Amino acid sequence: MSDCIFCKIANKEINTELVYESEKVVAFKDINPKAPIHVLVIPKKHIETVMDIKDEDKEIISDMYKAIREIAKELNIDEKGFRIITNCKEDGGQEVMHLHMHMLAGKKLSTNII
Ligand code: 5GP
Ligand code: ZN
Repeated sequence: MSDCIFCKIANKEINTELVYESEKVVAFKDINPKAPIHVLVIPKKHIETVMDIKDEDKEIISDMYKAIREIAKELNIDEKGFRIITNCKEDGGQEVMHLHMHMLAGKKLSTNII
């Protein structure tokens, strides 16, 4: 997707410091952090929303969780924990139409999410 900001980050057309990279996944810090640690984990493949995930993408989804585990260890939040959020479409508050998981950590997070 030529006009997708997250594709441009994944393709390195936009210079963004990556906190993680594997064959199918990259992760980077959110530009507008909502917690002391706020990392976005994205597939390199342009998948718009959760509703666009196909059975053939199962390795990508598995690799996104693998990325989360490795990032958690690297950032020393594996013991205390973190929250993963994926917003889907308009009512979910999705602004960037390229699948991503928010990884939030670094403090005791509020459970008030609605
Ligand atoms: P959404 O609302 O789609 O779930 O979340 C999109 C997230 O992407 C937001 O938290 C926003 O701050 C972040 N974001 C949007 N554009 C950029 C960007 O160009 N660079 C980075 N690092 N984060 C971005
Ligand atoms: Zn994209």
